[in-house]
Amino acid sequence: MGVCTAGQMALLSDNFTGPLHPWARPEVLTCTAWGAPIIWDGTFDPAKAHQKARQQNFTIGLTVFAVGRYLEKYLARFLETAEQHFMVGQRVVYYVFTDRPDAVKHVTLGKRRRLRLEHVKRKQRWQDVSMGRMRTLHEALGGQLGREAQFVFCMDVDQYFSNAFGPETLGELVAQLHAWHYHWPRWLLPFERSALSAAVLAPAEGDFYYHAAVFGGSVAGLRQLTAHCTQAMERDQLRGLEAVWHDESHLNKFFWLHKPTKVLSPEFCWSPKIGQRAEIHSPRLLWAPKEYTLVRN
Ligand code: UDP
Ligand code: MN
Repeated sequence: MGVCTAGQMALLSDNFTGPLHPWARPEVLTCTAWGAPIIWDGTFDPAKAHQKARQQNFTIGLTVFAVGRYLEKYLARFLETAEQHFMVGQRVVYYVFTDRPDAVKHVTLGKRRRLRLEHVKRKQRWQDVSMGRMRTLHEALGGQLGREAQFVFCMDVDQYFSNAFGPETLGELVAQLHAWHYHWPRWLLPFERSALSAAVLAPAEGDFYYHAAVFGGSVAGLRQLTAHCTQAMERDQLRGLEAVWHDESHLNKFFWLHKPTKVLSPEFCWSPKIGQRAEIHSPRLLWAPKEYTLVRN
């Protein structure tokens, strides 16, 4: 189905992944129309990616927000499993944004890994916490995080790692295919459709539906992404609007206008509720059960 042409193949090896083997997964789409690799299990060599990243001495940031009850419910498992699976062997800095830094439980960190706690104000509505992340991230990327890391992943806290999530995922702009929507035709994807919103995509627009629970990139790439989303959400707010899927709608608009240089298959952020799928070999991150009545009310 989606194996790349010879011309595209040349593009498919980068400084992070090493040579890619898209033909290893002929049953899935392994390359976008604009030549970016879609990373599936088996299409890359994790050891080569690890070696390349070490040679370049990267520091990789991982940001996560744990505000209100999301802290007790999800943070410890997210961080403990990240220690087991996220960028193992690389230099890593976690940025945990929370309204209660004192309530964050100690996590034993491996060598060359550190954790920074950043205070954020709690907001009344969970949607405002979720959307407010873009501005906070933008500021952090312009500050210490941006100075100490070269690449950063920004993730939801309501998930946990279950397999290696390594430097093969690094890139200038990295987007995550949404586990529930990767099989759907474009016109059915839940993009914002109101022309009044800055996040609007017309029926013929949108490449894929990306999941806001995982996105990443270089510091410069993410500065641009977070600036776009912050401004777009402010514009909507001034008009009394909120996009259908909040920050995710604006993220999808951004990735329509600025194509990701790398796309992660749904194996990188999978929902166990979907059940077994032949093409999902080894999920790297799993959605935690959604317990909205516990954490949102
Ligand atoms: N979040 C938080 N406290 C809140 C609401 C959201 O810490 O009150 C953070 C948390 O990291 C969460 C993310 O924002 O994972 C996005 O919210 P949520 O996961 O509830 O959205 P969904 O994945 O259901 O769209
Ligand atoms: Mn979530």
